[in-house]
Amino acid sequence: ALNQNLASLQGKINVSFEFFPPKTEEMTNTLWQSIERLSTLKPKFVSVTYGANSGERDRTHSIIKEIKNKTGLIAAPHLTCIDASKEELIQIAKDYFDNGIRHIVALRGDLPPNSGKPDMYAADLVTLLKSVADFDISVAAYPEVHPEAKNAKSDLINLKAKLDAGANRAITQFFFDIESYLRFRDRCVAIGIDADIIPGILPVSNFNQLQKFATMTNVKVPDWLKNMFIGLDNDPETRKMVGASVAMEMVKILSREGVKDFHFYTLNRAELSYAICHTLGVRPDLQATSK
Ligand code: FAD
Repeated sequence: ALNQNLASLQGKINVSFEFFPPKTEEMTNTLWQSIERLSTLKPKFVSVTYGANSGERDRTHSIIKEIKNKTGLIAAPHLTCIDASKEELIQIAKDYFDNGIRHIVALRGDLPPNSGKPDMYAADLVTLLKSVADFDISVAAYPEVHPEAKNAKSDLINLKAKLDAGANRAITQFFFDIESYLRFRDRCVAIGIDADIIPGILPVSNFNQLQKFATMTNVKVPDWLKNMFIGLDNDPETRKMVGASVAMEMVKILSREGVKDFHFYTLNRAELSYAICHTLGVRPDLQATSK
């Protein structure tokens, strides 16, 4: 029955993949190999993150244009407003538009330590982008609540404000507690959000790194997950398989709960995301590739 369920999903699931700007030549090669492999799955879009230092920002712009030109995929740059002026942001948006980029992931960005109240939040960035052009905009959502939020309710109201300002969909922070995603989705519907709340899936291959990141971002690491990785500190191969299997189980449950769109935090590697997509019925067009 399970296989039947998955077979019936074939062709109905949309995926998107997130990458980050590589720092070395070796990482650049890995990125392009990953993009090439994952592009065969015809993602709805791919996105590239935007870092805090200006070098990385320029790299985001150039990689996005390169992905668009080389692969024809819809390439969505992430854009943060935390330490840019309105004029700079308008300029960046215009430049993207002139280069045929119509999709943007609009974020506030993390506050530098000891900073005061920011001038702009992500909702303001959405408004600014919409004033430049009719971009297709994705924003961030936090099933387990953003660490700075006053409370869950105000965080949810903020998400609604971002969508009301013109964003088309939300992509969630990664999570492992499926219940918290499902409850969050229900709460979104209850306050009148009708946009998709796309789960952000992080295939885990480095558990120790994950734990640090999860603490910073307020994401629960359940005991069952911790347990899965015990004893594997020096065994990256097994960690990878366990990580893939955990994510496969998650997407299986989510798809049974009606989720049709998935966003993958690929960490610039194709292997796990590709395998997870395969189990969801997201596969290359075999006829096209065998010709
Ligand atoms: P906002 O929606 O502005 O919310 C930030 C916080 O402020 C929340 O706690 C919210 O409740 C609160 N808030 C909102 N409006 C107000 C207000 N008017 N008054 C008081 N409080 C308010 N970071 C990067 O630097 N680069 C990236 O490429 C990047 N990509 C990401 C992709 C995804 C899918 C996700 C989920 C996160 C990403 N981040 C990225 C991290 C993100 O920048 C941080 O989580 C950041 O701290 C919040 O960004 P936001 O867009 O959610 O902000």
